[in-house]
Amino acid sequence: MPIIRVAAPVTIAVVLAAAGAFAVQPQTQQTKEPPLPKVVTPGSPHHPEVAPSDAIVLFDGTSLDAWTKTDGKPVEWTLDNAKVKGSAMTCKPGSGSIMTKEMFGDMQIHVEFATPKADADAGLKSQARGNSGVYIQGRYEVQVLDSYQNETYPDGQCGAIYKQHAPLVNVCRAPGEWQSYDIVFTAARFDAAGKKSANARVTVLHNGVLIQNNAEITGPTGGAMGEDEAKPGGIMLQDHGNFVQYRNIWVRKL
Ligand code: MG
Repeated sequence: MPIIRVAAPVTIAVVLAAAGAFAVQPQTQQTKEPPLPKVVTPGSPHHPEVAPSDAIVLFDGTSLDAWTKTDGKPVEWTLDNAKVKGSAMTCKPGSGSIMTKEMFGDMQIHVEFATPKADADAGLKSQARGNSGVYIQGRYEVQVLDSYQNETYPDGQCGAIYKQHAPLVNVCRAPGEWQSYDIVFTAARFDAAGKKSANARVTVLHNGVLIQNNAEITGPTGGAMGEDEAKPGGIMLQDHGNFVQYRNIWVRKL
């Protein structure tokens, strides 16, 4: 009977375990305790402007000091209210994309964004509505778009790794509402000869929902700052001609 054949080894194992049979195996190597994980104070769900204690705050609403235009000149995007922590910056269309001064490799990124209601009200469609993007290392775009009741090609909608991976689901909030990306990024790896040994990987939560699950990025996406994947890179926010807003941006080096 199949049931007996399955059940018998389990019974033997239980009996042996009860008799302490597994406890007398000789210890062939001393296992070393791993170091205690560092204590980190988390952010607050009620105060999203509070970053985890070990994060590098890239934007808290009060200053654009961590950012530069991609040509190195000062940022022209506008601060909504520099006196209030947690307030937003708004893309100034035509002024150019902006990028962090600091460069990063493997990292966790938190960024909040809102696409403009005015674009939807004006009847703009597809890629013309609330377009921006979070470029990891300045070279891999996690698309920002108003994909709330606005159809476009799947690998170009909000949360796509542009032209490589559509998001697993469309979890967009309506334009004007604040949304979040939480991104875990593993940079491409290179061997001693400089040959790529592993593609970059990315996991993305959009509004807390998984939309990219360890997705493999085969190379820089359109609009990337350069093609060299071996170097660390900044986080770039795209000027695609729409008044997209950002707030509460922080990064943790991994
Ligand atoms: Mg874009």
